[in-house]
Amino acid sequence: MAHILIVGAGGVGSVAAHKCAQVQQAGGVFDRITLASRGLAKCEAIAASIKKRLGADIATARLDADNVAETTAFLQREKPDLLLNLALPYQDLPLMEACLAAGVDYVDTANYEAPDQAKFEYKWQWAYRERFAERGLCALLGSGFDPGVTNVYTAWAAKHHFDEIRQLDIIDCNAGDHGQPFATNFNPEINIREITQRGRYFEHGEWVETDPLSWAMLFDFPEGIGPKKCFLMFHEELESLTKNIRGLTRARFWMTFSEQYLNHLRVLENVGMTRIDKVEFQGREIVPLQFLKAVLPEPASLGPLTHGRTCIGCVLQGRQAGREKRMYVYNICSHEAAYEEVGSQAISYTTGVPAMIGAKMVLEGKWKTPGVWNMEECDPDPFMADLNRYGLPWKAVDWP
Ligand code: NDP
Repeated sequence: MAHILIVGAGGVGSVAAHKCAQVQQAGGVFDRITLASRGLAKCEAIAASIKKRLGADIATARLDADNVAETTAFLQREKPDLLLNLALPYQDLPLMEACLAAGVDYVDTANYEAPDQAKFEYKWQWAYRERFAERGLCALLGSGFDPGVTNVYTAWAAKHHFDEIRQLDIIDCNAGDHGQPFATNFNPEINIREITQRGRYFEHGEWVETDPLSWAMLFDFPEGIGPKKCFLMFHEELESLTKNIRGLTRARFWMTFSEQYLNHLRVLENVGMTRIDKVEFQGREIVPLQFLKAVLPEPASLGPLTHGRTCIGCVLQGRQAGREKRMYVYNICSHEAAYEEVGSQAISYTTGVPAMIGAKMVLEGKWKTPGVWNMEECDPDPFMADLNRYGLPWKAVDWP
């Protein structure tokens, strides 16, 4: 039995805390759950929701995850077995440092980003590999949906269905609607930093760059979702998958956006509101994107407003037993069903559930190898089984 500390009481932290409490209630591995964040009020609201829905108690605390000394002292006092980082990518390195100092395993859902440069690279976190290995600690990177489940789908297909995967397309569709003119489904600052970057995909051993959101394809999503326009972007799992899945000659990532979303985004970019450098305003320095975040709807507030479904998956092409083969592995998640179950929309749900499962894999010893790991480096089978068990059932179909 184990004590899990969840850091970050936003949309994803809320789902993960509810799911950990569900596992606890069923006699699973989390016998103590602590939720800590920058502000106590959000932690307490989540704890109250868990108490109301499940009758379970979790502990709450205030914690500044940017402060390594404060976090280390907190870990030494509370003695969790694992820290699940659901704060922001800026906190990855301080939290990894604190885990090393206090001897605690670590899981996150997004690669480290420095606040003043929107770069999506694992190099800073991979640099911790030896230190975690030497301390006998495990750090699992990117245990959300994408990255996360998409890496596991690819590893599972490579293990059971292909001798060699040559082409991979990860396709992320939010076919839901929250009725707001413009809102992001997860932290607006992190989301807008990501989608305003230049596109990048992997082909024949090289990275090819494209202008931001300049390439699109139409993809016909299954189960009545239908055709949607998907835009090519860079996404961090491409970096690890092209290293770890041997034989890949092409890997791309696509995401759907509505015309309305793109029009708002273009205007915001054109007027400078997505800038991440500091500007002077009324005698103090502000970052325009951080100001924009403060006036946009909080993703957690979209839960009761969002209808429809998400469909995220991988189209994989390669060979098995001398035969050419193409396969689609995907999950469809309903915004309304997620809200009914845990009070959050499906974007937070599809991230919070795999975050809980990643932590569970480490704490149950199934994925607890000392070092720093991306998801596809671990055995996909127990994770795939838990996706079906804990609310993200998947399908794998031949895809002509
Ligand atoms: P939110 O902004 O809703 O939540 C982040 C939480 O972290 C907030 O409660 C925030 O506090 C807290 N926080 C921020 N800074 C600190 C700090 N220094 N110390 C302690 N707590 C802090 O974000 P989301 O829940 O939408 O996203 C959480 C993470 O999940 C992000 O890293 C995001 O990139 C990742 N993600 C990953 C996905 C995947 O599929 N892999 C998909 C979606 C998200 P406050 O409330 O005070 O701001």
